Amino acid sequence: MAEHESLEFGKADFVLLDNVSLEEFLANLKLRFEKGRIYSYIGEVVVSVNPYRAMNIYGRDTVEQYKGRELYERPPHLFAIADAAYKAMKRRNKDTCIVISGESGAGKTEASKYIMQYIAAITNPSQRAEVERVKNMLLKSNCVLEAFGNAKTNRNDNSSRFGKYMDINFDFKGDPIGGHINNYLLEKLVKGAPESLLRSLHIQKDPTAYNYIKVGGMIKSSINDNAEFKAVADAMKVIGFTTEEVHTVYRILATILHLGNLKFGSDGDVTLIENSKLVAVLGELLSTKEENVEKALLYRTVATGRDVIDKQHTDKEASYGRDALAKAIYERLFCWIVGRINDIIEVKNYDARVHGKNTVIGVLDIYGFEIFQNNSFEQFCINYCNEKLQQLFIQLVLKQEQEEYQREGIPWKHIDYFNNQIIVDLVEQQHKGIFSVLDEACMNVGKVTDEMFLQALNGKLAKHAHYTSRKLSPTDKSLEFDRDFRIRHYAGDVVYSVVGFIDKNKDTLFQDFKRLLYNSSNPVLKAMWPEGKLSITEVTKRPLTAATLFKNSMISLVENLASKEPYYVRCIKPNDVKSPLLFEYERCKHQVEYLGLLENLRVRRAGFANRQTYPRFLQRYKMISEFTWPNHDLPSDREAVKRLLQGCGFEHDVAYGKTKVFIRTPRTIFSLEEQRAEM
Ligand code: ATP
Ligand code: MG
Repeated sequence: MAEHESLEFGKADFVLLDNVSLEEFLANLKLRFEKGRIYSYIGEVVVSVNPYRAMNIYGRDTVEQYKGRELYERPPHLFAIADAAYKAMKRRNKDTCIVISGESGAGKTEASKYIMQYIAAITNPSQRAEVERVKNMLLKSNCVLEAFGNAKTNRNDNSSRFGKYMDINFDFKGDPIGGHINNYLLEKLVKGAPESLLRSLHIQKDPTAYNYIKVGGMIKSSINDNAEFKAVADAMKVIGFTTEEVHTVYRILATILHLGNLKFGSDGDVTLIENSKLVAVLGELLSTKEENVEKALLYRTVATGRDVIDKQHTDKEASYGRDALAKAIYERLFCWIVGRINDIIEVKNYDARVHGKNTVIGVLDIYGFEIFQNNSFEQFCINYCNEKLQQLFIQLVLKQEQEEYQREGIPWKHIDYFNNQIIVDLVEQQHKGIFSVLDEACMNVGKVTDEMFLQALNGKLAKHAHYTSRKLSPTDKSLEFDRDFRIRHYAGDVVYSVVGFIDKNKDTLFQDFKRLLYNSSNPVLKAMWPEGKLSITEVTKRPLTAATLFKNSMISLVENLASKEPYYVRCIKPNDVKSPLLFEYERCKHQVEYLGLLENLRVRRAGFANRQTYPRFLQRYKMISEFTWPNHDLPSDREAVKRLLQGCGFEHDVAYGKTKVFIRTPRTIFSLEEQRAEM
């Protein structure tokens, strides 16, 4: 119920709609968007519509308007939610988190940056140098991660190709003292590599000279290469990367580009490198001998019983190995950068006995639900991640809330929502879930094909309501190819092609490459490849599969979020052409539906904005009533609270549970607070 906004801009809080229907919801969203009001609330959830134009609403003056205010005192804004999370953290010593969701291009990363910026702006009033330094590093770390982890896609010029969760740690004064970043599944397709950064290395003036850039197919970029390059270089320096480290990063990027240009051919039985001059360049860049590079590219060491032999690749295998190497190097580089940033920003010298509890605000900016023309393993993982987050949202917002009303004996008509736990199980359940079936297929020695994996899925999941495939539904038109299977996600149906699942799930990088890089005389590079230490006969343990690693990281992410007080930002993309004017009705409707915003609104409207136990309520407000001040003589605290609220005329706005009083609108709380202040 945000005040200070005229109705010509629509309802600032969807709770105020006359009727809860998809049509009214969208009409209000559209009106607000067209009037330049990109933020709205559903209670405490921020709904944001990407404006696709610069908005003059993030400056110092706006920060001042939101600082220390209650959510409902000002028009909806990200700053208000950031302030609410900050206040909860500071006043009540609670760890909080802000979960930002929405599809690609909806504005998640921009939102996360404004939130960070706001927190930086309101903290450290005494200008302590150490805190300023930490804040600067936290902000700069973003710039570096984006340079390496973002890419231009057809949906977003600056699309995050990795998921990111960042904790900011605060001391007892509420000032940032450090942080930690978790990154999730970098899409390691080479075409996802940030071309602008690669090009800016000026290895050669003509970017089309590099195959990997050509494959990316985006020679023209809207991002200014030189300026970006300089910003990244500066940021790395500020954060504290050494010169040697920065140089190694450039060498690795150059290595990737050159790798892409390697051509293999064959002469009779012999596989060879056609442009062998490049091998010398690679040797130099990787600080290793040319002949070692050549050997790793053309041969694989295999152990047969007690013998170790060198087996020559076919030219096809060699090309495959080359691409796998380029991807692995890039991914390893990215993880190493995140690790280095974490080393530098982690909280140091904090003694809780001296400084009090160190609390945390976490910000999650993670890939939204994706449906492409061709969906593969990456989309499958990303969509599974969204199922997990939706489940958390259900648990926290829809389920817990309703269960509490029931527990407290508040009259309540249950509100239906689709519980997606069944889909989460379909993917992650032990033995039966898709990830388990995939891992099992990958464990088999010998050649297991993607098709065999699909067969296994069909065998196990034939009866599952959310799974089908061409084999199981031969007449279904959306399943065009034999290799397709379809999942009915909470956000809609997605057809996945099984092609590549086995390969992408296994760690397919030849051991020889790991040893090659570990044996580099460049210590930074060596440190990135610790497992290269093992010789061929020592490698026994199978590395964890990509699916298992991802599943484990999602489970711990959700556990972590569930332990914090959550705040939500739900981002909506108004159109697919990046227009500031266009509100594409159908596109928006679909997003409102699958984000579950209507269910969210129903629960919110039927529910109560505030609840407190009776003793706590009395403790805070007993001074405003003669019946309760300084003590009451009523039979119970419940009765006393009733008496107090009757006296204020708020009877219609509250409900009395077994242990708690429930207050419907925030206005009542404001009014109580005001009366308290006047005492
Ligand atoms: P992805 O999942 O692909 O990473 P995303 O949700 O993180 O997408 P953003 O990169 O945050 O999307 O936003 C895409 C683009 O939309 C931005 O580059 C910017 O041009 C525009 N945009 C988003 N939010 C805002 C905003 N608040 N003000 C102005 N422009 C915005
Ligand atoms: Mg993003």
